[in-house]
Amino acid sequence: MVLKKIIVLFCMVVIFIMPSFTNAEEIDQAQLNKERMALYKKGETLTFIPWYYFAAIDTYERNVRSVRNDIPKRENGVLSIYIKPEDWSGLSNPVKKDTYAPTIHLFSGIGLDGNNDGKASLEDDEDILYTFIHRLNFYGPSRQYIRMMLWDYYQRAITVDIIDEYASLYQYYGKLNIEGNAFPLPIRSTHSYRSTWGAPRSFGGRRVHEGTDIFANYGTPVRSTCYGVIETKGWNRIGGWRIGIRDLSNNYHYYAHLGGFNKDLQRGQVVEPGTLIGYVGSTGYGPPGTSGKFPPHLHYGIYKDNGYSEWSFDPYPKLRLWERQDRSK
Ligand SMILES: [Zn+2]
Repeated sequence: MVLKKIIVLFCMVVIFIMPSFTNAEEIDQAQLNKERMALYKKGETLTFIPWYYFAAIDTYERNVRSVRNDIPKRENGVLSIYIKPEDWSGLSNPVKKDTYAPTIHLFSGIGLDGNNDGKASLEDDEDILYTFIHRLNFYGPSRQYIRMMLWDYYQRAITVDIIDEYASLYQYYGKLNIEGNAFPLPIRSTHSYRSTWGAPRSFGGRRVHEGTDIFANYGTPVRSTCYGVIETKGWNRIGGWRIGIRDLSNNYHYYAHLGGFNKDLQRGQVVEPGTLIGYVGSTGYGPPGTSGKFPPHLHYGIYKDNGYSEWSFDPYPKLRLWERQDRSK
């Protein structure tokens, strides 16, 4: 009896404390975004390159950093832009974490003192931003020139595209917290799916299944699951008519075998959770227009990027979560 009372009491305490935890987290995130925005705006003031490009670069670097083991996680500070310590101090500098600008300069290090506090510190956000800016080749503040600048710095086409897409999202919404998801099909549609990620497939050579098949009737609307930008749209031999959408959390969402597209959507366009992108079909497994080689379904996959390559992970748990969330709306 006493034990029961204790359990009830414990549950009540948990129920009362939990919301305040999430509140504190939200406040922390809001504060973080405020500090980040101030730095992005500072970047804009120094370079005339719009703040949303600095937001996009920093988000890209944060995403890459979170999935890479060869780049240390940042302990303090709010920016994620990574500069190697040996580049900062100079390769032959005996002081590995040198903050004294004259010796850094002497050993051909790139670290600079951005806030005039007498130190050029790799731990200081303003110094990082200032040093990063000094490594860029500026051609001008137009989009095409910014893409050239990004190409010079990253030397990778997909990275330039991703940063450009992130910039579109930040520009469109004018803020940093852009979050939310939706299930890809209308919640009241008839559909079924199970976890088949990694199952063998034979068409187009031996490969494994990189996604979840959601079976539904021809013509069922297919919707974006996230805030993102249309990165690909068109035919591919295995996926048929397909669309790829990039979100800010390092996910590339892949929708395949569509019967048709939302005609209003073009590459580069911003979408949000629930935006109609096309309709369930059975296209693929052949030249453009091939259809009906398998029952109608949406193939949905998610890929992540580490700055070198992309890999697929199982979207099934997220689909179940989004379905539950949509049902409770
Ligand atoms: Zn599939």
